[in-house]
Amino acid sequence: MGQPSPSEDLRQELDADYRVFDLRGDHYAIGYEMGRRAPMRVVRSWREQHDELAFARSCVEQVSRFHPALPEELWGYAAGQGLSREEVLSHFSLNLPEGTLGGCTTLARRLPDGHVLIARNYDFLHSQRQRYLRHVAPCGYPASLGTQAGLIGSCYDGVSGHGLFVALHLIHARMAEAVPPGVPYHLIPRILLETCKSAREAAARLCEMPHLFPFNYMVADSADMYAVEAYPGRVRPRAPEDGHLVVTNYYAHPDMRPMQGRRKLTGQQARVGWIEQRIAGDRGGGAAEAWSWAQQLLRDHSVPVCRHSATQATLWSMVADLSTRRVAYSLGAPCRNAFVEYEWPESDGSDNR
Ligand SMILES: [Zn+2]
Repeated sequence: MGQPSPSEDLRQELDADYRVFDLRGDHYAIGYEMGRRAPMRVVRSWREQHDELAFARSCVEQVSRFHPALPEELWGYAAGQGLSREEVLSHFSLNLPEGTLGGCTTLARRLPDGHVLIARNYDFLHSQRQRYLRHVAPCGYPASLGTQAGLIGSCYDGVSGHGLFVALHLIHARMAEAVPPGVPYHLIPRILLETCKSAREAAARLCEMPHLFPFNYMVADSADMYAVEAYPGRVRPRAPEDGHLVVTNYYAHPDMRPMQGRRKLTGQQARVGWIEQRIAGDRGGGAAEAWSWAQQLLRDHSVPVCRHSATQATLWSMVADLSTRRVAYSLGAPCRNAFVEYEWPESDGSDNR
């Protein structure tokens, strides 16, 4: 695996569009504000435009089944950009198929004192410029703090006012033969953070959804944690063993493994194995020790967990204690950026108008 020069990766990080947003109002107003301030990410087209638009419209219907207000954020964004609704439709479907590489590592661990600790790195192309951390407080829904990489209305990892944590992880799987309209990966964390009160409820919701893309999701709160492995037409939840879950970019559930074909998974499996060894070897001090233990884990360059290649660069990193509702993000690779603590989002967004 080629490791390009760290200076190129650092140059991309310094040049990237890191911004923190505080957004309130109804979903349309939140979208409008983003449309005024954030450039639209281009989604590549693969098929006839008529087919792409028809498929995307059907995906809007699927998204609306699970979160009727969320499409308003995309329409608001379109208005803020001076675009028609049709021009943002591709952000509902991503014009299947899309073939990009990506990484991500997420650990949820129940500590000896009962706290649930989260540690997560988000890895993607280092050329991805839009790297936003958003505090979103929509009227009538719980607020959330989460990240976004340019896709309208999306969230890649985050926490809600109800104490729920959600994260996504791309899977390299074989193409499904036919994919009916469904819910795209990047809207799923938003739907769960705004419509579910617990990890158990979020896992159940994930199992009901028609999925467009092969992805792993992690959902956790102070009581429960689940990995949910999704592929168009098949979803399987996975419960923790020994009080922890490590999720990366491959299916661990035996029912899901065939979908990966013969792809080499040794790199990802080594990452999981290394983290599990670190957990087994950790004597587990108090909450303060665990907090810095998690940050050190995310800075690792040996497996590595913190990555600097062109196709898999760590764009941001987070740690959270779901029991005490403490959350911190490192905007940039955690080996050279500090973790900054942010206020935990409120549970009731109804008076944010
Ligand atoms: Zn690093």
